Formats: sequence, structure tokens, C-alpha cells
Amino acid sequence: MHILVIEDEPSLRDGLHDLLSGRGHEVESCARAEEAWERLESSQRGLCPPFDLLLLDWMLPGMSGRELCRQIRAANIEVGILMLTARASETDKVAGLREGADDYLTKPFGVQELLARIAALGRRLPQLSRGLRLESDGCHLDLGRCLAIRDGQEQPLTSRESAILRLLWQHRDRAVGRDELLEKVWNAPGDLRTRTVDVTVAKLRQKIERDCKCPTIVQTVKGVGYAWGRPEG
Ligand code: CA
Repeated sequence: MHILVIEDEPSLRDGLHDLLSGRGHEVESCARAEEAWERLESSQRGLCPPFDLLLLDWMLPGMSGRELCRQIRAANIEVGILMLTARASETDKVAGLREGADDYLTKPFGVQELLARIAALGRRLPQLSRGLRLESDGCHLDLGRCLAIRDGQEQPLTSRESAILRLLWQHRDRAVGRDELLEKVWNAPGDLRTRTVDVTVAKLRQKIERDCKCPTIVQTVKGVGYAWGRPEG
């Protein structure tokens, strides 16, 4: 998993970093919620791989873990949040879960419990999209490496094209509007015209579709936007 550790206590932060890296996770860490938010925004724009899980300290200088959690959920960023809290009171834990945390650990915690909870979240969370490998209509998509492979031919995808595919796949039960694509992939609501989305999708289709005139992977949904795969019914 791609994990972001947000913890202001250096020894704990470094300890978590080393522990999780040693277990094969790709780990980044920072001391402040504001910095974590910047990294999350970059990942939302496709500028770096998305995070699967945050280990989020509740008590941070500046923006608190709780505020960051609320902000992440308000922005609909799909990432697991395991809160680390020194507070043992039930009301605090309940408040944290209400703000959108997926689970919590009360400090001090044991390594085995931490690893078990991370493994459990990994099984539960649906958005483990980093390194996502998909196959649709004969086209293999390796989104971790930004590649489309059809008939043995590799085509590099831009990070934006990969982000579009990832988003459509994550929401494959519905259509994704052009506004939502602009907001989540370009991070630019209102600044760009929706035509920008169509131009990018047209280029993407040339790389992945068998026949761009009759696309089967990125479907147009009239009046809405785009959807993954064949339309229902
Ligand atoms: Ca702290």
C-alpha cells in the first residue's frame, strides 16, 4: 500500500516509517496536516500516485488530525484513514469515526495490533487503486506504470489520462460528470471549459480503444460525461 504517516512526534513518525517500509509498503511521512493536504491534492491531480491509507495523528500543531479528516471527506478524497490518538475516551473515538476515520488506535499501541489493523483496512477498503491493473476489451491498463498495452504494443499514458481511467473505474457503477472530472483530475472547477475533458478523452481513446468511433472502455454518457465500460441495459 501507499501510506502517508502524519505524526508530529519525530521518533514515532520515523519508527512507523521504518516499520511499514520494512513490511513492503511505500511510505511517506510528514509532521503537519497542512503538508499532508498538499500531498493529497497533488495525488488527486494525478501528479503523484494516490495514497491508499493515512496514519493520522489526532493531535497536531496547526491544523488538527480531526480537521484534516473532515476536509478529506468533504473533498471526497478516497483514502483509508487510521487515526492515532492519545485520547482514550469513547466520545473522542466516536467523534473521530463520525468525521470519517475508518478505524483508530489509542497510543501507546503494539506493533502487532497496528499491522493487523492495517491489513484489515487493506482488505476492506475498495480504493486500493495504486498499481491498478485492469483489462477491458483486449486492452491491458497498468495504471501504476501509466501504460496501455494492446496486441503487445505498449502506449504510455499521461498521468492525467491514468487519473481519468482510475476515477472512472473507481466509480464504475455510475457515470462521472465532466465537472467532476475537471474538479478531481484537473483540480480546476470553473477555470477550464468542459471541452478540455472531451479533448483529453479523445486522445486517451486513441491509445486504448479498439475503434475510437465505437468506444467500449471509456463510454460517453449523453448529457452527463463518461463512464467505465459498457453502459447498463
Ligand atoms: Ca501529536
